[in-house]
Amino acid sequence: MSTTPARMSSEQATLEVRVDGVLGEIRTEILRRQRFLLTSHARPDGDSIGSQLAMAFALDRLGKEVRIVNADPAPDHYQDFPGMERIEIAGRVTPDVDAVIVMECSELSRSGVAGLENQFIINIDHHAGNLLYGALNWHDESAAACGEMVFDLIRALGVPMNLEIATHIYLAILTDTGSFHHSHITPRTFDICRQTVEAGVVPATMARRVFDSNSFGKLKLIGALLDSMELLDQGRLAVLYMDDRMLEACGCTNNDTEGLINLPLTAREIQAVVFFKAGPDGEMRVSMRSKYDVDVRRVASHFGGGGHKNAAGFTVNGSLESVRPGILARLVEAVEEGLESRP
Ligand code: 5GP
Ligand code: MN
Repeated sequence: MSTTPARMSSEQATLEVRVDGVLGEIRTEILRRQRFLLTSHARPDGDSIGSQLAMAFALDRLGKEVRIVNADPAPDHYQDFPGMERIEIAGRVTPDVDAVIVMECSELSRSGVAGLENQFIINIDHHAGNLLYGALNWHDESAAACGEMVFDLIRALGVPMNLEIATHIYLAILTDTGSFHHSHITPRTFDICRQTVEAGVVPATMARRVFDSNSFGKLKLIGALLDSMELLDQGRLAVLYMDDRMLEACGCTNNDTEGLINLPLTAREIQAVVFFKAGPDGEMRVSMRSKYDVDVRRVASHFGGGGHKNAAGFTVNGSLESVRPGILARLVEAVEEGLESRP
């Protein structure tokens, strides 16, 4: 069963943290162990990077040994963030550690790192449908980012904020809320952000580094993608498609694709976006974003994926022509249902 520790007031969070339930158990197990391996989901995003590195800098402060292993490198615009050089890229490890902390990862296999199965795993995640694969499972769907949970844990461990930790917590929240667009943002989100800003984070600089660091090629790609965008359901659903040929024609790599999916949502009428990315071996990556109560996670779950109400994804096998109709039909349904439930 998953357990959610009681949320703390800002005073408690700043001064002394009340720790109970699974958060207390995680604290105990971390304090009594020495060597840690940290990981997250494959194709890491800002929440994966931010959660892992904030945790790593906190464990440093406790004098622990820390190794970070990810299946894939992070997108280029994260490479200048503190501690990025610490992340090893590997699809398999033979860990010699006392515990593995898996953050922001709903199933162990989504880490893309093999060899972790028999370790003492601490699972910290906010995705609905987390499989609770750890020896300790802290699963809190109400967190706007896994970074919020990591913040609580760092406080519980008694580690003071420093600029590195604060930067990564803010990065996690900034990116996982879709730069404060998604529906799961709470007062707690801003309270944590306030504390990171007090520790020296400059929000304007963070926003520029994360969102305004595009290559010229990416601008061309944006043009090409939007030019070929289709609209369905009276303009409420946008469909984007991309393959390697388009990437190459614009001088881009997969690195340049982050955030593209959000562009159509800037149009008032558009309530949801689906982005088909043709991968190697006939695989099709499907990413979805939505506004308000349009629940794209349910669509993703139907096709074996997951995520959140406003941001979800999955992978299917097959050509665009074969997979597209079924996916679009479900999405139109989700859009219609979301519209109905809107006040
Ligand atoms: P993205 O579209 O950026 O790849 O993912 C959006 C959200 O959906 C993220 O929270 C991500 O973790 C989740 N997600 C994407 N693909 C999958 C998948 O194949 N399985 C699961 N369980 N979650 C996914
Ligand atoms: Mn997340």
